[in-house]
Amino acid sequence: MVTEEELLAAVKEDSVAKLLQKVIQIESTNPPGNEINLARWLADYFVKVGVEAELLEYEGKHANLVVRLQESGKGPALIFSAHMDTVPAGEVPWVFPPFSGTLHEGKIYGRGAADMKSGLAAMTEAAVILAQSEISLGGDLIVAFTYDETHGLQGAKRLVENGYLEGAGAVLVSEPSSLDVFIAEKGALWLKCRAKGKTAHTSMPQLGQNAILEMAHFLHRVEESLDLSAVPHPLLSKPTFTVGTIRGGVTINVIPDACEAELDIRLVPGMDHQKVVQWVRELGEGRVEVEILDWKKPVESDPKAGIVNLSLQAVEEVTSLPRQPKGVSYYTDGSVIANSLQIPMVIIGPGDTGMTHQPNECVEVSRLVQAVKIYLLIATRYLK
Ligand SMILES: [Zn+2]
Repeated sequence: MVTEEELLAAVKEDSVAKLLQKVIQIESTNPPGNEINLARWLADYFVKVGVEAELLEYEGKHANLVVRLQESGKGPALIFSAHMDTVPAGEVPWVFPPFSGTLHEGKIYGRGAADMKSGLAAMTEAAVILAQSEISLGGDLIVAFTYDETHGLQGAKRLVENGYLEGAGAVLVSEPSSLDVFIAEKGALWLKCRAKGKTAHTSMPQLGQNAILEMAHFLHRVEESLDLSAVPHPLLSKPTFTVGTIRGGVTINVIPDACEAELDIRLVPGMDHQKVVQWVRELGEGRVEVEILDWKKPVESDPKAGIVNLSLQAVEEVTSLPRQPKGVSYYTDGSVIANSLQIPMVIIGPGDTGMTHQPNECVEVSRLVQAVKIYLLIATRYLK
């Protein structure tokens, strides 16, 4: 019988650090989302160490990667969830090039170091250690690496629709949490708003109707009067509203006849997103059209769920710090997976939440190693 001590002793800093450096070096920026190169490399990596991996390619440039460690099937399966895409490196120059994976003073630098190639590398390492050990478990471990998490969660949607995650009883997501235990996330409602006007020469504005001004007044009304005053959620606090883009006008001396803006509204569990859309429409007073671009449901796990307790315990054991379940305002693949399969979600990742999408993104190697150990403990205990 393999003991937990033996599994933890198999975790090698050098191995997981090198793996993270490599996956940072394979660029998978979204857009355009060429996750396929990283997915192919990971599939080869699993096969080389004797683990079967299923590469699912889409539209020539996207891919999901699924590894299912088949066990006795007596118990529910556990999903290890990570996404392969990253946001772009941005315009600001980095201290170390963003796709170098430089190791400097105990930290690895690069786009995705925190969000979330560190989580992906730690989950890969943990899955390989489990596969290579003689341990026998009651439920399957499903490694589910997706594309397009940073935008539309398309990869996760495809995995759910095609039945790859069937039999799962819980999902563990390795998004950045600074090794905290998040059990709730906000939902994201994305709206496109269109104001229409009437074009005219700017020397005779009385003949036109300015769509940009219409939009400006509308956005002001939304900011002032959109009622997001839901009772603050104990883990997620309050909903938020932001304007992400605005476009309108062709040139300085023509009254613009169209203006578009995109709104990002983050809701807490229990709020009715249709009601919020209704409010926004009413604030348009019939002159601004409101279209739903996307709706990612919030997630809230039962704090008493087995996976939550196991996770808190594993993190405390490995980090020697007491932990409380918390919530997070970003969305994850968990929005699709946990809501579609009706299973609890836990987010634990080695990345720092404050590092997400920042220049000079990095992760501490010591945290990366701790994450591998935490994933091993959670998997062996949950899948017992
Ligand atoms: Zn992420």
